[in-house]
Amino acid sequence: MQSLFEDMPELRAARVLVDGLSDMLLDYSIPQGMEAVQRGSRVELMMRNRMATGTVVDIVEPDEAWAHRLRPLKRLVDEKPVISPELMNLAEWAARYYAVPIEQMVRCMLPDAVRQEKHEEKTRKVAVLQDWPDDKTLNKINSRAPRQAAILRYLHHSELNRAPLADLGGSPALAPCRALEKRKFIRIEEESVHRDPAGTETFAATYPLKLNDEQDAALVSVLESFDSGDLKPILLQGVTGSGKTEVYLQAAAHALAAGKGVLILVPEISLTPQTMARFKGRFAQDARSVAILHSAMSDGERFDEWHAIRRGVARVAIGPRSAVFAPVNNLGLIIVDEEHDGSYKQENAPRYHGRDLAVLRGHMEKATVLLGSATPALESLHNVHLGKYRMLRLDKRADGARLPLTRVLDMRTEAKDKRHLGIMSERLRMAIDTRLDRGEQVILLLNRRGFARALQCPDCGYVASCEHCSMPMTYHLTENRLLCHMCGYRAMVPKTCPECHSSGILLEGYGTQKVEAVLRRAFPKARLQRVDADVASRKNALRDILNEFRAHRIDILLGTQMISKGLDFPGVTLVGVLNADMGMSMPDPRAAERTFQLLTQVAGRAGRGNLDGEVIIQTHVPHAPAIQFARRHDTDGFAESELALRAQFGFPPYKHMAVLTLRSESESLAEFSIQNLYKHILKALPVEVEITEPMPAAIAKAYGQFRFQCTLKADSARLIADICSREIAKLAVGEEIRISLDIDAYSFM
Ligand code: ADP
Ligand code: ZN
Ligand code: ZN
Repeated sequence: MQSLFEDMPELRAARVLVDGLSDMLLDYSIPQGMEAVQRGSRVELMMRNRMATGTVVDIVEPDEAWAHRLRPLKRLVDEKPVISPELMNLAEWAARYYAVPIEQMVRCMLPDAVRQEKHEEKTRKVAVLQDWPDDKTLNKINSRAPRQAAILRYLHHSELNRAPLADLGGSPALAPCRALEKRKFIRIEEESVHRDPAGTETFAATYPLKLNDEQDAALVSVLESFDSGDLKPILLQGVTGSGKTEVYLQAAAHALAAGKGVLILVPEISLTPQTMARFKGRFAQDARSVAILHSAMSDGERFDEWHAIRRGVARVAIGPRSAVFAPVNNLGLIIVDEEHDGSYKQENAPRYHGRDLAVLRGHMEKATVLLGSATPALESLHNVHLGKYRMLRLDKRADGARLPLTRVLDMRTEAKDKRHLGIMSERLRMAIDTRLDRGEQVILLLNRRGFARALQCPDCGYVASCEHCSMPMTYHLTENRLLCHMCGYRAMVPKTCPECHSSGILLEGYGTQKVEAVLRRAFPKARLQRVDADVASRKNALRDILNEFRAHRIDILLGTQMISKGLDFPGVTLVGVLNADMGMSMPDPRAAERTFQLLTQVAGRAGRGNLDGEVIIQTHVPHAPAIQFARRHDTDGFAESELALRAQFGFPPYKHMAVLTLRSESESLAEFSIQNLYKHILKALPVEVEITEPMPAAIAKAYGQFRFQCTLKADSARLIADICSREIAKLAVGEEIRISLDIDAYSFM
């Protein structure tokens, strides 16, 4: 029997993320003639009697009764969906993996500036000479309408015989131009103006360098993958200064020549004019072919760059982690520079990892993925061991410079020197003095992350650590206890050092400002500049300071992690690390890895020019593997030793870890709720997933909110995400409680 409904059009509805409303999804029916609507389409619709725009995040099949109550979409903005099907797949995958609603991922893919579309493309009027009058006519024009004649002459001498109206005198020039247009001497065109974040800056063209043997072998190998369509991601491990960037540039040129698009991710902080110039300069024949996406751009710039990429005008996109969603057409190559860098992990929702999504995107879009670093993440090295990634190496510096000599100063003995200045040993002070005398530059690094509260003995270097997982424990004032944030173990605070019985055991910690004061007293004549998060939060402050430093108007640069990466200062011959231990006593399984990476990267800053460099590391734990391997520039040795430890305790990359955090202004409500949530999750979790009992977070209170957390560990991140998000949804808490789940967490505070 024929169904009565056979001839009825298929009922479909679009689930739309309406612009301007925070994460509000509404369903609309898809009227006839708008069948082209699909996931990722931009649409217009009626919302409370006014027109609004939105993005389709899903196509759903409504039941009929419901379908008739839906309002229809008004218009499909663009036949081609603004988010490609490939990117929608990436959004969907990421939403599930990181346990966030898909609209959060869609938001990442469409920058506000693009979504709101109030930044229409800017256009300007341009006059173009079409016909040059003969002398007689020109004389006539000259006597009757001298302005018109002047315009004709101006165009005649202009490049390409064209000039923007603004150059011809602005709007008063419009009337004479129209008159000339009528007589077909000129024509007036609308030309779109591209707001380039690089502004009027021009980039000197650079040409491919002749590669050394190592670089050449690496490039050949990358291109083999590219040409054969072998999709195994490549890890390029190359010591600092080995010329990885040149390999990236030549690989990118190859991809462009093959008609493919290129995506380049760089750490947030290294998106300096220096990096921009290297890429813009190489592809300078057409400066617009390189689009830059970064956080300091205006909405208008972002809009233009984004559309330039989407339309394929720009075929190379460069940006920090969020650029992993750039709508590059026909993507053929993804490069992730400094792939180990912590800034690839987003620390607020959605908490995705830019490198991991880059690898996934490459796989989905059949693009070659090239990850590069001097100190690869252990996750990536593990993937090499598993055969999931292929490793290529550059073991020599390209410019022939030697790796700097690194000395480790034992602060336990240095502190016995009477001239010791607390945070600075006499030996480091003398080394700085020598450089200042020679007119050379110094970088001093103060390792400081978050609000770590570890207990350390200044006499023997002992750090209070957990008996069960050997992680440093965190001191909690309210309970007067030490807590292990990895396994939940609680311990009493020792009165004296368990190792050497010194009674001096204390909370470590030094701020940049305090160190600055010490330095100013020690080197009253030196030009000293401090760089930390406070200073860098001012717009362009970091850039300006770095330019001053490069121009040698600063002698000593004192800063936190942010000065350690990707910077190239030939005048720097001494790098001092004031407190190498600080990072290691973080409650974090990657603490040693971060310290190793930091020391290795910062050492790479010394001696880049013709002068040999020296690195001095001050520490209370001189024999810690992270410090000893960094001293020898031994990345392989460190990885081997650290991976063995991680395996032993089941830390990443052997297991996935997640942090569940609950925040509320009310401490009792927060504590009660997390206990409740914990009980539900515990009941639902299979035994192979571990969860710690709830405890106050290492940062127990921030922004007026009390924070409690549980740490989870499992072979499968999916399992954690699925179960936790289900239980969180069931809990149905009110506005006064905020819950976040950080899958593959990089911060445990
Ligand atoms: P990395 O990114 O690996 O730290 P860079 O790309 O910054 O290294 O290169 C370090 C220096 O070596 C740069 O000044 C670069 O111009 C130079 N360089 C790179 N490749 C070559 C080459 N083949 N010949 C000469 N100099 C090179
Ligand atoms: Zn001690
Ligand atoms: Zn523990």
